[in-house]
Amino acid sequence: MNYWDCQNNVPKARKQFGQHWLKSEKALAKIVSSAELNERDRVLEIGPGTGILTRQLLGQAQRVVAVEIDRDLCPILLQKFAKTDNFLLLQGDFLTLEMDELLQPFPMFQNPRKVVANIPYNITGPILEKLLGTIANPNPNPFDSIVLLLQKEVALRICGNPNSSHYGALSIRVQYLAEAEFMCDVPAKAFSPPPKVDSAVIRLKPRAVEIPADDPRKLETLVKLGFSSRRKMLRNNLKSLIEVENLNQLLESLGLNPQARAEDLSVEQWVRLSNAFATVEQLSHPV
Ligand code: SAH
Repeated sequence: MNYWDCQNNVPKARKQFGQHWLKSEKALAKIVSSAELNERDRVLEIGPGTGILTRQLLGQAQRVVAVEIDRDLCPILLQKFAKTDNFLLLQGDFLTLEMDELLQPFPMFQNPRKVVANIPYNITGPILEKLLGTIANPNPNPFDSIVLLLQKEVALRICGNPNSSHYGALSIRVQYLAEAEFMCDVPAKAFSPPPKVDSAVIRLKPRAVEIPADDPRKLETLVKLGFSSRRKMLRNNLKSLIEVENLNQLLESLGLNPQARAEDLSVEQWVRLSNAFATVEQLSHPV
């Protein structure tokens, strides 16, 4: 098989690994500046590919540990960065590999605090979950910042504000765990081969929410159910959990319109609603 794309002097991109080589200098510069790197940073890169972003990261951070699933790219990367002792390559699937364990023999690369990556779009959800954790199970050792190049549609959903068409369960699941910023658009033509969709850069800064959920699992369930039918009022989507009159009262006690839809509630209001649920449950099942 002809593996090399001679015209562009890069390996041919493999669909199964979601490979699209970034070629726009402008997009590269924006990704790197969004990461706010300094010479003391240890960076984790997921999917270094041909190393175009890796080279920039190595220029600005102290160390870069990169995880690449495609075995055939590893010799290319190792050769490119052979002279740099601040680069460590782990070959494997980021979703399943045990990073802490693999980094045991390399103390200088342990515990990277920043993530920068042009990720394969087909596994965006699982990557986000591995990096951030979930509402009920947040990452116990959260990163300082996570800069990702991903599908624009997903970027908009992650960063969505209440009452916008992109605001939904994903916005809440991410924004409960991190501050989310939309950094810039990246058009499909910035890649070779171009993906079918446009892309964007986002920055996540994990932090604890001001008001945490008393019962994070309840919050997850409520958000999922609440958005199950976007156009319906909350009281209809949550019918299986709570009597309409009880929910009306709850919403009013939180200063919300009883006719509210899921998209009307901010993350904080979702948490307040979830926390207030316990009182209603006690009323309906007195101990
Ligand atoms: N960073 C490069 C390549 C981006 S394409 C660039 O900007 O040009 C996505 C990269 O993620 C590819 O190199 C692909 O092989 C790699 N990849 C795909 N699935 C992966 C996984 N599960 N774990 C680690 N790397 C993965």
